[in-house]
Amino acid sequence: MSLETEFERVALPLEYPFTIARGTQTTAETVVVRITDGDGTVGIGAGAPSTHYGETVATVAAVLPDLLAAVEDVGDPHQLARIERRMRETVAGNPAARCAVSIACHDLVAKRLDLPLHRYWGLDPTETVETSYTIGIDDAERMREKAETAIERGHGRLKVKLGTDRDGEIVRTVRDVAPDATLTVDANEAWTPREAVRKIDRLADEDVAFVEQPVPAEDPEGLRFVYERSALPIAADESCVTLADVPRVAGRCDVANIKLMKCGGLREAFRMIHAARAHGLEVMAGCMTESNASIAAACQLAPLLDYADLDGSLLLADDPYEGVPMEGGRIDLEAERPGTGVRPR
Ligand SMILES: [Mg+2]
Repeated sequence: MSLETEFERVALPLEYPFTIARGTQTTAETVVVRITDGDGTVGIGAGAPSTHYGETVATVAAVLPDLLAAVEDVGDPHQLARIERRMRETVAGNPAARCAVSIACHDLVAKRLDLPLHRYWGLDPTETVETSYTIGIDDAERMREKAETAIERGHGRLKVKLGTDRDGEIVRTVRDVAPDATLTVDANEAWTPREAVRKIDRLADEDVAFVEQPVPAEDPEGLRFVYERSALPIAADESCVTLADVPRVAGRCDVANIKLMKCGGLREAFRMIHAARAHGLEVMAGCMTESNASIAAACQLAPLLDYADLDGSLLLADDPYEGVPMEGGRIDLEAERPGTGVRPR
């Protein structure tokens, strides 16, 4: 079969500047991949590179011609295992670039079969989860406004970014406007182990559900120190990048936060989910700031998850792609659109 491939850079302005412990972002830089089969069916995917993991749109654009040449060479989009293996043989790292192609191939295959991807995988669309909505770091007044807006839009799960010298005040401000919401927090590696244990003691008073990445990924013993003393469950994100990291974080956290853009594709995400289960970990799927061209694929994994943080598209000023409906944060797979559910708006 002959496949045609193309890609384009797409910059997506955010609704609000998005600040985490490491810095501020106002635009999500993405690369959209399209793979067309001989019948004119188009698979769509996207890569949302993160400089934290060594990628930019320039590095993604630099390797995509080789990755897409490998796909064209395989020729059959249904050969997903071979395609992902060929991509890994082509570039060792570059997970967001490989992920864009992985998503486009999965979207194309499921569309060719006229099946939503979760049905291709045999998953139950009614076993879905609710995504959290992330409140980035800002002054107290802006954080209050963002939390109020999220509650008005029906969100029941808020994730609050921390890692500042006013973390206690931030959580109290959000809790104040969202007394009934499920709150989680994400320190993005900003705390020392002892500081984390102390801060988590106080977060427990605000009924926080769990704490994501309290300490730097380079300090696995620090993560263990926090996990063994924490008043709240701990999720690993920056510490849990690829399949090989899952056994390393087992015994150091409660929840593995898996992201397509970190691990490089949907097949690797499946392996991570099963490995995490084998190690007694709960499973969360997270995202970068990214459009529905890639978020829709992560949403198809919802029946396998305990927690979802798939609000990437919700944080954009507007998204050129429609994906899986998420009214009030509930990932609604029952719309049964073929493929990942993505379509140009
Ligand atoms: Mg995180």
